[in-house]
Order: sequence, then C-alpha cells, then structure tokens
Amino acid sequence: MAGSGKFFVGGNWKCNGTKDSITKLVSDLNSAKLETDVDVVVAPPFVYLDKVKALLTDRIEVSAQNSWIGKGGAFTGEISVEQLKDIGCKWVILGHSERRHIIGEDDQFIGKKAAYALNEGLGVIACIGELLEEREAGKTFDVCFKQLKAFADVVPSWDNIVIAYEPVWAIGTGKVATPQQAQEVHVAVRDWLKKNVSEEVASKTRIIYGGSVNGSNCAELAKQEDIDGFLVGGASLKGPEFATIVNSVT
Ligand code: PGA
Repeated sequence: MAGSGKFFVGGNWKCNGTKDSITKLVSDLNSAKLETDVDVVVAPPFVYLDKVKALLTDRIEVSAQNSWIGKGGAFTGEISVEQLKDIGCKWVILGHSERRHIIGEDDQFIGKKAAYALNEGLGVIACIGELLEEREAGKTFDVCFKQLKAFADVVPSWDNIVIAYEPVWAIGTGKVATPQQAQEVHVAVRDWLKKNVSEEVASKTRIIYGGSVNGSNCAELAKQEDIDGFLVGGASLKGPEFATIVNSVT
C-alpha cells in the first residue's frame, strides 16, 4: 500500500444478475466479515442500483458503471450524475476497457465525463490499461500514460479519484497479471503522476489493480507495495470470495 487512505476494493458486477441473484449477493455481502480498514464499493447494473443501495449495509458504498457527460435532459438511454447522487451513489467507474473497446468511448469523452462527475462531487474510479498487442509491442506505458493524460488534462482535482490499472488481456480471461507485472505498471503510473501532476498527488492517489483477481491470487498481489486495492469483475459476483479479496489487505 503506497497511496494514502485505505485499501480500496471495488466489485464491478457489469451486466450480470437478476432480482433474485442480486438479493442473494447483497445478503451475502451484508453478513460477510470485512476488514474495517478497507473502502468497499460495489457497482451493480443501473436497474438494480437503487435497490442495492437500499438493501446494502452502510459499510459498503455503491458505484455506477458509467455516467452521462453533463447535465441530464434529452439523452435517451443515459443516466446523469445528478440522478446517481439522488439515490445516494458515491462513485462511478469511467474508462473501463469494455466501454473503450466495445462501445468505442475515446479518451476525450471519458475525460469529460470524469471532470463533470468530479465537479458534481462523485468519486471516479478511472480505468486505464493496454491491449495484449500493445503490451507485446512494448507500448504498455505509452498507452497508460496517454489515457492518464486525458484525465489529467481536464479533472479539477485528484482528491476523489482512484486509478484502476486493468490490462485488457487480463480482464475476464483468467489470465491475471503477475504481481511483478502489475507492480511495474503501478510504479510507472505513480511516477507519471509525480512528473506531470504533483508529488503530493502521486503519493496520495490510490492505484488499484483489476483483471482476473480472485480469492486465490489476491494475497500475492496485495503484498506489492504499489497495489492499493482491486477492481474485481467475475469474482465480485460471489459474496464470500469478494470478502476474501477485501480482506487480503496487508
Ligand atoms: P475480471 O474483471 O475480474 O472479471 O477480470 C475486472 C474488471 O473488468 O474490472
């Protein structure tokens, strides 16, 4: 743990679940024993967000998986930051690789969303990460720095941002980055923040890892000095396993 503040673990439920399965997951989370020194956040699909917020213990915050770029209005299919705040949502995940690469969101669009959400008081889990071919071409740092710069160019402050390094080749593939691979990028990201934002932001900002994190590999990853938490997809759909990941804080 190098960033200041608490270890941060987010559960990204993506487009999964039904009323029944989500009720069960929330009940498992409510009864799980979670280390006190960890910020825990779950991001249900929009349709269940309000229900999850109502059923979940206050110990766990809720996050959206996306938000609109500005004030609400005639934007069919979008959800505004104001609406998220209205139901007590504290965080939003932005720049997730599935939105970058499947939906086609670009750096500038994501940056604008982040700036708007932060200005309105939401916390942002800002995702960055390289594709497999980019890693193989030795471009991992370039890609991550370009994505970081798009945030840095527009955000009003870094107080409410958690950076999630999620190599795209590790997401949902069962192919987790080794602790050394993750640590190497986290150090580079912190160094980039130091040079391009400030020493204070570099030392304070939490940099979390995502990509095939599970109950078996979390402990080794959590030992790395610059891994300040996790963003968990598949394994966050199982309450007891997610609790194991939360409790891997060292
Ligand atoms: P995964 O997803 O844990 O299923 O690999 C991580 C993420 O996309 O945040």
